[in-house]
Amino acid sequence: PLAGRVALVTGSTSGIGLAVARALAGAGSALVLNGLGRPEEGSSLALSFDDQFGIEAVYSPADMADPTAIAAMMQLASARFGRLDILVNNAGIQHVSPLESFPPAQWDAILAVDLTSAFHTTRLALPGMRERGWGRIINVASAHALVASPFKAAYVAAKHGLLGLTKVTALEAAETGITCNAICPGYVWTPLVEAQIADQARAHSIPREAVIRDVLLANQPNKRFAQVDEIGALAAFLAGDAGASITGAALPVDGGWTAH
Ligand code: NAD
Repeated sequence: PLAGRVALVTGSTSGIGLAVARALAGAGSALVLNGLGRPEEGSSLALSFDDQFGIEAVYSPADMADPTAIAAMMQLASARFGRLDILVNNAGIQHVSPLESFPPAQWDAILAVDLTSAFHTTRLALPGMRERGWGRIINVASAHALVASPFKAAYVAAKHGLLGLTKVTALEAAETGITCNAICPGYVWTPLVEAQIADQARAHSIPREAVIRDVLLANQPNKRFAQVDEIGALAAFLAGDAGASITGAALPVDGGWTAH
């Protein structure tokens, strides 16, 4: 259903972004992949997409904290494919600390990667989407775009901001065939979470199952991690024609967390 489309997914070398990229490629979209890491790894990831999905994929090493690099990444999409139809702003980082001791440099980095990068990619993607009268902008926000938790000041502020940007983008583009939505996951099973389980089990001297249920998933009523492929499937749905009237929405994938 996405054959002929071109998608760009920021932070797509791992976790949720990788699963979203795979879902879009599986539906036939060409891809610009992005993420930090060794350039050879990015290029071989792009090749593996070519092989596995029979679509064209290219990798950009752009740092989402750097507006100049972001502009170069957007340029790569138009140079290589001549268009960009689907933009997924997924790259994100976290830092956990009480507000009084929250390192200002971490605040700046989180705001830059989790929020400001989406402003830059969106403003650069919109003109071409408008011209073609079709576009999908999907922001991977968080349950923390809707509710807060202590010790996550920068992340919660950035994700709330990303939802605000989502709504403004949706309204400004409402009559143009372009939609913009935010996916708001609760806890999703990624390598990052796996590492947290081991750390917390050691720190609290409690078994792994107790960490999952009582610590990590304390706020998630269904007591289950979402799988990255569930986020990929939702992104592919929003990117398809069935998503045409869904815009400006925050779509929780959080096992009931934000129903509290
Ligand atoms: P991850 O750490 O597995 O992947 C993050 C990706 O972003 C990687 O590809 C990394 O290279 C890239 N990235 C990080 N900083 C970057 C930068 N400066 N420039 C370019 N790329 C950069 O993380 P994940 O768990 O898959 O999270 C992806 C998104 O989902 C984030 O926005 C995160 O806030 C959000 N999210 C995750 C969860 C969860 O439970 N995992 C829950 C809610 C929201």
